[in-house]
Amino acid sequence: MQTEHFWMPFTANRQFKIKPRMLERAKGMYYQSTDGREILDGTAGLWCVNAGHNHPKIVEAIQKQAATMDFAPTFQMGHPLAFEAASKLASMAPSGLDRVFFCNDGSEGVDTALKIALAYHKLRGDAGRFRLIGRERAYHGVGFGGISVGGIAGNRKQFGPALSGVDHLPHPLNIAKNAYSKGLPEYGVELADVLEQRLLALHDASTVAAVIVEPIQGSTGVILPPQGYLQKLREICNKHGILLIFDEVITGFGRLGSAFGADYFGVKPDMIVCAKGLTNAAVPMGAVIASTEIYDTFMHAAPQDQIEFFHGYTYSAHPLACAAAIATLDVFKEEGIFQAAADMSAYFEQAAHSLRGLPNIKDIRNLGLVCGIELEPQTGKTNTRAYDIFEKCFWEKDVLIRTTGDIIALSPPLIINKEQIDRLFSKIAEAIREQALS
Ligand code: PMP
Repeated sequence: MQTEHFWMPFTANRQFKIKPRMLERAKGMYYQSTDGREILDGTAGLWCVNAGHNHPKIVEAIQKQAATMDFAPTFQMGHPLAFEAASKLASMAPSGLDRVFFCNDGSEGVDTALKIALAYHKLRGDAGRFRLIGRERAYHGVGFGGISVGGIAGNRKQFGPALSGVDHLPHPLNIAKNAYSKGLPEYGVELADVLEQRLLALHDASTVAAVIVEPIQGSTGVILPPQGYLQKLREICNKHGILLIFDEVITGFGRLGSAFGADYFGVKPDMIVCAKGLTNAAVPMGAVIASTEIYDTFMHAAPQDQIEFFHGYTYSAHPLACAAAIATLDVFKEEGIFQAAADMSAYFEQAAHSLRGLPNIKDIRNLGLVCGIELEPQTGKTNTRAYDIFEKCFWEKDVLIRTTGDIIALSPPLIINKEQIDRLFSKIAEAIREQALS
C-alpha cells in the first residue's frame, strides 16, 4: 500500500510506516483490521463512538440525508434539521444551557466558546476582561485558542507564542496522595483555591474573562477532579464575574453515566463544549451550548438588523452532521445508553483495579467508563512501556487501547458488556506481564 502521501496527525509517521496498524471495518464493539482480525475497541475510536460502531439507525439517517440534501448554508439561511438538532441537544443539556452554536469538532468548539466569552464581556461593557485561564496538562484541541489555554508543551512549542493573557492553574493529579482512587479522588480540593490566589496576587479579577476546564482531563491521562474541586471553581468564578466553560468533548454523552459531566458533578458551567459523541463520531460535528443569559446578552446588545456574533463555519450545522446528531441523540435516549454506562461502571471499576499488583503499575484511576493505568517510566528505551503494551495489544491480543506518555487510557463504547470488559482487562494484563519480561 502507498503510504507516502498521508501526513498523519499526532503520529510518528516514519515509525508508523514500518508496520502500519490499519482498520477497515467496524461493528458494535469491534473493529476489523486490514489483516482480517476482529479487534475489541477499548477506546471507542478516540473517545467518541459512544453507542458502538455503525449503529444501524445512525447509518440509515446519514444515508437518507445524503440522498435528500447534501449541503445548505446556515449563513443567513437555514434548514430544519439544524434547528431540530439544536433543540434536541438543548433538551439534553443542564437547564439554563439551551442555546447551541454548531461547529465541526472539539477544537472549533473550544475556540468558539473562548470567542463567545470575550465578546460577551465586551458587549456588557466589560471590555477589560481579556484573560483566559486554563490548566496544566489540559487538552483543548489544536486551534490557537485551544493550544493557548491547553497545558501541553508539545502542542505549543513547535509554533512559538500562542495567545497572550493566558494563565494555567495546576492540574489536580496527585498520585502520592490519591493512588488507586476509585471514583473521585479524596485529596486536592484546595487546588481550586489557586484560582482565587492568582486573582488576588497576579491578575486583577476584573481582567479575567473565562476559566476553561475539562471536568476530567482525558487526553493527558485521565486526571480526575478531587471531590469538591469543580464546585469550588464555580464558586470562585461566580464571585468574580468570570465565565466557567466545561470542555466536555470527552465527558459529554454518557461517558460518566449522565448526559454531561456537569450533571454528574452537579456543577453548572456557563458554556459546555461538546463534539465526538454528539454524532457518535459518524460525521464530524461539535457544538457550544451556551446559557440563555449569554445568548440574550448578544441578542440585546446589537441593533436588530446587525449580526450579533461575527463567527461561523461553512459547515456549521452541516445537514449530514445534523441528521447524524438527531439520530444519535435519539439512540442514546431510546436505548438507555447513558444508564447502561452508569450500570456498568462498578464492574468496569472492579476489573480495572484487578490489575493492581501487576509489574510496573504506578496508579489506576477511573470514573464512569473511563480509566487510566499509569506505569513506571522505562529508561534506556525509545518507547514507553505503555506504547509497547499498546503495540502488543493491537498485534497479539486483538484489543485496541490508547496511550499517552506512560499512561494507558481506556474509554470503551458505552455498550460494552461484562464479558468484553473481562476480555479487555485480561488481555491488557497479559500484555503488561509480557512487557515486563521483555
Ligand atoms: N477538547 C477535549 C477535551 C478533547 O479531548 C479533544 C479531543 N480529544 C478536543 C477538545 C479536540 O477535539 P477535536 O479533535 O475534535 O478537534
